[in-house]
Amino acid sequence: MAAIEYERKRTFMGRIPYGEDLLASLTGFAREKGITKGRLQMIGAVQGAVVGFYDSRSGKYEDMVFDKPMEVLSLTGNISLKDGEPFVHAHITLGDDKGQSFGGHLMAGTVVFAAEFIIDEFEGKDLEREYDETTGLALWNIVK
Ligand code: ZN
Repeated sequence: MAAIEYERKRTFMGRIPYGEDLLASLTGFAREKGITKGRLQMIGAVQGAVVGFYDSRSGKYEDMVFDKPMEVLSLTGNISLKDGEPFVHAHITLGDDKGQSFGGHLMAGTVVFAAEFIIDEFEGKDLEREYDETTGLALWNIVK
């Protein structure tokens, strides 16, 4: 295991307007506020969603499109640096009108109905994503 210890800096509570792309909004907020590392969570509802499943055999994300209104039961994620820019990595659990849940890696194309988010910004050493040959993913560069 490898980890870096951080102090909490600022905490933001906010709302994302109707019709916005969820991932683009969260990323835009992090960049606008200069948040380079942190934790995020969000609850609310979406008009439709696109989530990914990383197929470790093919090394590719398979997109799943949910073209219907759903609750966001939970979204959890983090902010770190990728190519020198704040980058949001988030996973989302969605609930339908039967209480069934679906989810995956949050992708562009998830459209907000209503969204309440909380972001904790951390203070300390920068955390940068780097291509990892073993997994094919851009992972935190803290394990050598
Ligand atoms: Zn992911």
